[in-house]
Amino acid sequence: METTPTPSVLPVLPLCSTHYQVSEPQGIPGTSEKLDKNRFEDWLFSAGYTEDAEKLASCSLRVEHWTCDKGHDFYFRKYCGREYCPICGAKDSYYHNRRVMRAGEHFIWAVTWGNLTFTMPKEVSERRLEKRQLRKLQDLAWQATQRILKIEGAGVTVHLLGREGQGLHVHFEVLFHMIGCFNKGLISKPKLKAIKKVWAVLLNREMGLDLKKTDVKYSFAATHPKKWHKLSYIHRPICTEDAMLALDDEDKKYILSLKGYHRTRWFGALANSNLHEFLRKHWAPMKLRETPLIEKRVCPMCKTKLHYQDTMFIDEIPKSQVVQYNSDIWMDRAVDAFLRQEKQGET
Ligand SMILES: [Zn+2]
Ligand SMILES: [Zn+2]
Repeated sequence: METTPTPSVLPVLPLCSTHYQVSEPQGIPGTSEKLDKNRFEDWLFSAGYTEDAEKLASCSLRVEHWTCDKGHDFYFRKYCGREYCPICGAKDSYYHNRRVMRAGEHFIWAVTWGNLTFTMPKEVSERRLEKRQLRKLQDLAWQATQRILKIEGAGVTVHLLGREGQGLHVHFEVLFHMIGCFNKGLISKPKLKAIKKVWAVLLNREMGLDLKKTDVKYSFAATHPKKWHKLSYIHRPICTEDAMLALDDEDKKYILSLKGYHRTRWFGALANSNLHEFLRKHWAPMKLRETPLIEKRVCPMCKTKLHYQDTMFIDEIPKSQVVQYNSDIWMDRAVDAFLRQEKQGET
């Protein structure tokens, strides 16, 4: 799961710039000193998760060195990408913003968004469900929504924890766009009742339960601030450092065992294979911002793909040969000069 992010890959979404503008990831030097990174890291070391602990310890302190075919050098800051990392899991971190923006791309064109929260009894959460079971339950939350509301597609996000200190509390956030038949985002009481019923039936069958009723909450967003809040809330880091520290050791180990699990899955028209076509239909007049070549790991000067060379600490970058392009990328002086010239030519 370790990746080096390419900042501002995020499109500047056209709906409402004040609410969707995501700032450049902040330069980590300076902030890293303020963060107390030692606590969960220490637990990881002591519990034998040495690799995770090391990734956490070196998060944002190292860079990957890449070169183009003509030998231009590029250095990309490395993040660990873990929610329990004080840097990556911070609210408004690069990772948080990226998740929110990516999710937003699925819905941004729609006037009204609906959101169903499917919960489960505490004793089911405490079973420490495997990845396979969580996936299945995501499917079922989608099915319960789709059967009653007849929507075209949805994103289903798993939240493993509720409020801090209360242990595992698995629930599913289903977010979908509303078209036509819904009146300003409201759904009728009988429909919500029917959704609860279907969820109970599916849950009982899947988990061997005998629930008479289930708790499903509904809300919607029809204004930009509300939509932004909803996206940001649903995709916020859940298993943060503080949340992890508040868990007992077995639950900590359980969360770590889910590594590689996709918290959000897309269904129906929003599934990856259908999304492009679907958006073209609804979102034709809007365009995503074009991603700069450097962020696609292409040399902006030679237009050839970059190749990975090695990884080093930031202070090992040969600073005399490169220019810092933004908080996370350093590039060859020649390429920087080329880009400046190009920009001058444009204006
Ligand atoms: Zn990190
Ligand atoms: Zn080049």
